Amino acid sequence: MFGTGFILRDDKMETGTNLETTIEHSIDHCFEIHDVTLREGDQHAGVAFSTDEKIEIAKRLIEIGISSIQAGFPSLSPIEAEAVSALVNSGLKGDFHCLCRYDLRDIDLADTCGIRKIGFSIPGSTSLSGNAGKLARQKLDYFVKYAKDKGLFLRMSCEDVARSELSTVFTLYEIAENAGADMITFADTVGRVTPTMALHITKQIKERFTIPLAVHFHNDLGLATANTIASLEGGADQIQVSVGGLGERAGIASMEEVLMILHTIYRLQLPVDTTKLYEVFALVRDYAGVDGADTKPIVGRDVFTHECGLHVEELLKNPLSYHPFDPCLVGRKFEFRFGKHSTPETISYTANQNGIDLSPMTRDAILSTVQLLALNKVDFPNSLLVQMAEALQKIEKDYINEGVQ
Ligand SMILES: [Zn+2]
Repeated sequence: MFGTGFILRDDKMETGTNLETTIEHSIDHCFEIHDVTLREGDQHAGVAFSTDEKIEIAKRLIEIGISSIQAGFPSLSPIEAEAVSALVNSGLKGDFHCLCRYDLRDIDLADTCGIRKIGFSIPGSTSLSGNAGKLARQKLDYFVKYAKDKGLFLRMSCEDVARSELSTVFTLYEIAENAGADMITFADTVGRVTPTMALHITKQIKERFTIPLAVHFHNDLGLATANTIASLEGGADQIQVSVGGLGERAGIASMEEVLMILHTIYRLQLPVDTTKLYEVFALVRDYAGVDGADTKPIVGRDVFTHECGLHVEELLKNPLSYHPFDPCLVGRKFEFRFGKHSTPETISYTANQNGIDLSPMTRDAILSTVQLLALNKVDFPNSLLVQMAEALQKIEKDYINEGVQ
């Protein structure tokens, strides 16, 4: 079932200090290293990997030994669905997964793209709207069985575990496991977990459930790598990482840091060519146009900036939905920007803020332009939205609604 990551202890390595020797046997099980750069990294505000870039990054990851790869989020846009499909059909020997919303149409779309392994999230906390309640639980059994009937591997993620009641999290896992899910995920969506909490929660999940457990830690407070290691000590079966830790806001656990901690301190013999880590990092950095200073927790340029429409919609309802604390506490504020992951709702919201009520036709035309520019790595400022809205509304009025004069 796993694609990457089976580890042997390297007894030839120089033995560490007594202190290191006490911990080096605390990870002695097989686990998978799952790279999410092409999905989570692509969601970082301002990043838009093209299809060719996705394929090149995947190729380099596979070459260094990381073959379990999250290819993308097909329902974000037709362009993204095409990119995921192209990656699956590229001939690369990757074990490709994709992310879906909790929506049956996304299962169908993933299937159409040729993806055989999918993941989806349900918030466990009430900080994120919608799906934590009874209705979500009622749908879950059917959702899992629908995917399994199509022969798909299914991973169910409980989002925002840190702010959830563990009893709610366990109920969701139990329904998913009983319905036939293949894996569950402990996701610390806003980076509020400490290593002690990560270890404790991981152990509790491992004691209760038999299907493999994935872990996904965000880095808003700089703890993602430490939490990932702690969860491995607790028995996690899959760790989710990205190149340079690239992801939403301050990102997630960094692949390079996790691998080198496992190699250096835990003396694990990794099935990864670590001598190429910098090359892969530099490639992703150049394609993304983002470096470590931009994503540094708390002070990085991008860590309070949002592009993903689904997150923007949540933030408009609850400013703390996707942050562990109010940015004003550190002299910062939320910012939104347009890009590949913008949605019709974020276009309409920004137009409204500028006193413009968009028709669906104009809104969709603007969204297409935003996405096209993003794929060409060109920013779309608010001022351009206002200009386009005014011009398109005039065209619509003069030539469509009233006919060509
Ligand atoms: Zn994430």
